[in-house]
Amino acid sequence: MARKNIQAISLFSGGLDSCLAVLLMLRQNIEVTALTFMTHFGCDLDDRSSCSHNPYPVAEKFGFSVKLMQLGQKFVDIVREPKFGHGKNMNPCVDCRILMLREAKEYMEAVGADFVITGEVMGQRPFSQLKDKLTMTAREAGLTGRLLRPLSAKLLPPTIPEREGLVDRELLEGINGRSRHRQMEMAREFGLENYPSPAGGCLLTNSDFSRKLRDLFTHHPKVAFTDLNLLRHGRHFRFSPATKFIVGRDQGDNEKILAYADPAETICEVKDAGSPITLIQGAVTDEALQTACAFTARYSDRKKDARVEVTWSRGEAEGTVTVAPAPESVVDGLRV
Ligand code: SF4
Repeated sequence: MARKNIQAISLFSGGLDSCLAVLLMLRQNIEVTALTFMTHFGCDLDDRSSCSHNPYPVAEKFGFSVKLMQLGQKFVDIVREPKFGHGKNMNPCVDCRILMLREAKEYMEAVGADFVITGEVMGQRPFSQLKDKLTMTAREAGLTGRLLRPLSAKLLPPTIPEREGLVDRELLEGINGRSRHRQMEMAREFGLENYPSPAGGCLLTNSDFSRKLRDLFTHHPKVAFTDLNLLRHGRHFRFSPATKFIVGRDQGDNEKILAYADPAETICEVKDAGSPITLIQGAVTDEALQTACAFTARYSDRKKDARVEVTWSRGEAEGTVTVAPAPESVVDGLRV
């Protein structure tokens, strides 16, 4: 009976290392399905801050399949409470890798694939890819023996697919450290062009974004995906534990804020002038409404006027409030 094709599941960011890991498998006639993960924190495929890059051009060129997987709430949960802690900002990189590996393991089992690969290189990043960390993440993901790192395989103990002869260990690499010299040489050998330079990480590595996220987690035991999406848009102000303002910085922010706002939430703007859209989230007391209107006036084209009429609306209800634009000290005091 003919043996079924050998199949590997790859964690795939679309960066150089993950491409090379896949190409090393294809060279051994191993079928690869590449998993590209998405989260609410900037790993959009077209987001320049992202860990991920558009995987399709390289997949089409070299002949492997790609599957996009949204990590959704599972990812939000590890960002809030990572078992292995946060990095410098809110990035839970170790937990993130483990979660992606667990998803890959589940997928491997569901489709009857043989093992999982990643483009990890030993010692490439100071902490996350040291030898014992690589062993630990494989163990935590339940993939001990079934997780192959083709770029550093010769420096790591042989995995089950190597021991069983599914993969020829001699054709794998033994790359260690941060120099990308060998990877660039391999890219030339494989004819891999236009590969992206290493990405800085997702939005969770950004200190401004992380500050806004911490504020959201502090005041909301449960967060909606809309709240997470809104963290990317506008200036954020914490008026009270129960109330927050989001003030658009430009037309793009205004459109996003209007698109994400719940009809039950209050929107403020200065009519007939260049004006931000301000969204009031949470409790709308008289004081909160007055302050949000003063912030709206402050960021409008009428900011130098002594008094500005600001329109608010909530569903069908609408009204106006005339306020003095908020002074800088008040605005700065509430900025998240
Ligand atoms: S930067 Fe860290 S947390 Fe963000 S996607 Fe990359 S590994 Fe995951």
